[in-house]
Amino acid sequence: ITEGLTNAFSAFRGSGKITEANIRDGMKQVRTALLEADVAFDVAQDFVKQVTEQAIGAEVLKSLRPDQQIVGIVNQCLIDLMAGDHQLAIKRDGITVIMMCGLQGSGKTTTCGKLAKMLKEDGKSPFLVAADLQRPAAIEQLKVIGDQVGCPVYHEDPAKSDPVQVCRNGVKQAKASGATVVILDTAGRLGIDDELMKELQRIDNRVAPDTCLFVCDAMTGQDAVNSARAFNEALELDGVILTKLDGDTRGGAALSVKAVTGVPIKYVGVGEQLDRLEQFHPDRMAGRILGMGDVLSLVEKAQQEFDEDEMLAQQEKMQQGKFTLDDFRKQMRQIKKLGSMREVMKMIPGMGKVVDQLGDMNPEDDMVRIEGIINSMTLDERNNPDTIDRSRRNRIASGSGVEPAEVNKLLKDFGAMGKMMQGMSNMGMKDRMKAVKQ
Ligand code: GDP
Ligand code: MG
Repeated sequence: ITEGLTNAFSAFRGSGKITEANIRDGMKQVRTALLEADVAFDVAQDFVKQVTEQAIGAEVLKSLRPDQQIVGIVNQCLIDLMAGDHQLAIKRDGITVIMMCGLQGSGKTTTCGKLAKMLKEDGKSPFLVAADLQRPAAIEQLKVIGDQVGCPVYHEDPAKSDPVQVCRNGVKQAKASGATVVILDTAGRLGIDDELMKELQRIDNRVAPDTCLFVCDAMTGQDAVNSARAFNEALELDGVILTKLDGDTRGGAALSVKAVTGVPIKYVGVGEQLDRLEQFHPDRMAGRILGMGDVLSLVEKAQQEFDEDEMLAQQEKMQQGKFTLDDFRKQMRQIKKLGSMREVMKMIPGMGKVVDQLGDMNPEDDMVRIEGIINSMTLDERNNPDTIDRSRRNRIASGSGVEPAEVNKLLKDFGAMGKMMQGMSNMGMKDRMKAVKQ
């Protein structure tokens, strides 16, 4: 991917501004690069379409060239596509049963050990169940790993048992011993086969695990997509663990497995050792797929300069009494970029109490309503709110589905709200700058 995309982007270089023609040309090369990296055809196709839509008409930030701006957009689209809930759900009370599945050699057994180690360090009591009765060495392998982690391993004589029975007995034993998380290490095959899927479905039905994790070898490229699809159809996966990312793979599998199954990636394996399991970060993965860290930091810097310029301009307008509803809307959008309103508000001295008083109320909902009202105004009304009379106010209210009183309130209060938001942006921005400098 990396080299291909670098070539693709160099096609934009030297062009003064983003035009439809050079986007199309460049995106053809992006698509080729994605396909070469074993991203599924449909995924590459959709991705290119999405990026193209966003790139056309996109403002090129000061101090960036159009091609750099496009790298930023491609990067953001990659992040969006791979984003999801990356936390592994563990019940607070009772026992959580996790079933591992995947092809043979994908790293299931190793990952069982890695997860057990991680959970143990997190204060949980993990318990391993050796449900791979296909390979004679599999039980022994899990026992060795369990010893290393200091985690009990349940197993039965493979000649006299079957995987469903092992899992059921294993969970029973785990409950009896006070374990809080059970991890079922199941069998794999070299390819997808019916018998394996039936075996896994039987375990799924009879043992009803809380979470089913698909372990996927990142080196397998295009095949990863097909197996992910097949496992997801048979088992309804809850999460993916991508292994062997310590190799020279570019991570194309992360993109297509997520796109094809919609199932979030929870962790990545980055080595054979049991401590080589990491949280999945879509932004890091996007950076790896693009392989253009230096351009991305340029883009980030430019974005920040842009945000700061905007903020200063708003501040000045406020001081001069020229602050308009359009500025107010810009400000709300900026606040949204900084993260959750609650989090931003918490950073402001004295606002902690206000956050507590909010209770279950969600400030974001208010922002959506307010933005709806502003969107129902004409540009002229946004810039000269004084000109809004009763009949225009009623029209705006019906246009945005609120009571006229709410429009009144906004017209009366947006100046004060703007000042408060200014404070939030300042704080949020400072915080973000600190994070970038670290
Ligand atoms: P299973 O058949 O799915 O249970 O796969 P195993 O857990 O037995 O792993 C197969 C091979 O992949 C073993 O040699 C592991 O050491 C190796 N492996 C697993 N995860 C990783 C990883 O994240 N990085 C590397 N480099 N090797 C891994
Ligand atoms: Mg195994």
